[in-house]
Amino acid sequence: VKSSQWLLPYEQALEKSYLRRLAIITELKNALVAEQAELSMVYQPKVFLSTLQICSMEALVRWNNKLLGFVPPDEFIAIAEQAGMIEQVTTWVMRKTINDLAMFRAAGHTFTIAMNLSSHDIQNRALLDKLADLLAAQGLEPTDLELEITESDLVADADLATENLRQLKAKGFRLAIDDFGTGYSSLAYLKHLPIDTIKIDKSFVLNLSNDVDDQQIVRTILHLASVFELKVVAEGVEDEAAFALLRDWHCDIAQGYFISKPLSIAALTEWLAVSPY
Ligand code: C2E
Ligand code: CA
Ligand code: CA
Ligand code: CA
Repeated sequence: VKSSQWLLPYEQALEKSYLRRLAIITELKNALVAEQAELSMVYQPKVFLSTLQICSMEALVRWNNKLLGFVPPDEFIAIAEQAGMIEQVTTWVMRKTINDLAMFRAAGHTFTIAMNLSSHDIQNRALLDKLADLLAAQGLEPTDLELEITESDLVADADLATENLRQLKAKGFRLAIDDFGTGYSSLAYLKHLPIDTIKIDKSFVLNLSNDVDDQQIVRTILHLASVFELKVVAEGVEDEAAFALLRDWHCDIAQGYFISKPLSIAALTEWLAVSPY
């Protein structure tokens, strides 16, 4: 093994990313069993554009590690999938989210919670059964929960995923396709999948008021969704102009920094007390 100082620049970069992966795997293993909570959930509201009522809260995982600092979920979820740890991560997320949902219900809130599932999760029947059990144990119903699955994950393993989604749908879970428009896939699956909602990827929404191409794409998706009688969420709504356009075009639901960033339970409680939604 060469000492680091003799490595070529690309080798140094490789070693750095290799070491970071290794550190993420080791530290995530600890975080999943740790007494002191490194993992947490934040919640981002989605609102109905017609009534300005809160429709749902998307649960997003956060990880703040003592060595690595804040690690973005995109990064550690992908590594957890490759390292065979995603079931543990998703189980942690399920438990926490369902506990929080029970608490929201006890406080009188009626909104649903949307949880993200990774591609491995939708092929894991035992994990999906556990989800129903965890809800039942809290006296909650599958209709209280919405499951977000990315478009690329659905397309990657269509058969098994479709069968599992059918079963989830039959139990009453609401299903949403996340990052819609980025999967470069055939639209035929919209006809076959038992989904309720599509979420337009934020890349088409962030610059909506300035970008005529994005406007065309969003309007086309809205039209498509109306043909298939699907609800549409626009994510990445950052300004009032985008919010107003989407409302004019009868998009059902909006989510983004213009409404609120993802918030901790404490911050969300304050937000709920003062928000106009
Ligand atoms: P996603 O499901 O597409 O989540 C939307 C991401 O956009 C979130 O990033 C959110 O914080 C961010 N966002 C929301 N509104 C805006 C906005 O107005 N502008 C911009 N620029 N961004 C906005 P986050 O929390 O970093 O999550 C990234 C991705 O990590 C998620 O993408 C999801 O794929 C994954 N993820 C997060 N939490 C979980 C989880 O609990 N389980 C799984 N399997 N994946 C998760
Ligand atoms: Ca999502
Ligand atoms: Ca998304
Ligand atoms: Ca995403």
